[in-house]
Amino acid sequence: MRALYPGSFDPLTNGHMDLIERAVSLFGEVVVAVLSNPSKRPAFSVEERIEQIRTATRHLSGVEVISFDGLTVNCAVTHRADLILRGLRAMSDFEYELQIAHTNRSLAEDLETVFMATTARHSFLSSSVVKEVARFGGSIDHMVPPEVAKDLNRLFNSAFPSS
Ligand code: ADP
Repeated sequence: MRALYPGSFDPLTNGHMDLIERAVSLFGEVVVAVLSNPSKRPAFSVEERIEQIRTATRHLSGVEVISFDGLTVNCAVTHRADLILRGLRAMSDFEYELQIAHTNRSLAEDLETVFMATTARHSFLSSSVVKEVARFGGSIDHMVPPEVAKDLNRLFNSAFPSS
């Protein structure tokens, strides 16, 4: 089976990585689809995010990384995905995710959305928390793959050079 895993991935975290690794062994193929939405004012460009994910997943076979804009269901059809994969960290994710899943179902009724529960040790992780910690100089090495940590340090150290 081929799963489409859509998201902002701004940037990729160990929580995303954990989901990708588990999904590859479950479904065989995972297409990680990076949403190109400039109105979200991302910290990293789509190209940078794609590069980060490709580097971090190069040890896995069955992972493809692409960018998309517009409707997720259209992206799923274009990339011949059998299902849309989303992660659930806490109840707070649930309401929004359920709304999106129902909307997508109403647009493409054959396309299932499958939710995977986050591994407990990653359940506190989000891209925004990681950026917040990095911005204020905290260690993010346990939160993101090494290549992402390097990019975050470069981004925030050059924005706020230490005196
Ligand atoms: P979006 O803006 O679409 O929510 P994200 O990059 O924040 O994009 O998340 C993409 C997907 O990854 C979502 O399904 C989200 O629930 C899931 N996700 C986010 N953080 C984690 C985590 N720590 N562990 C597992 N899944 C996560």
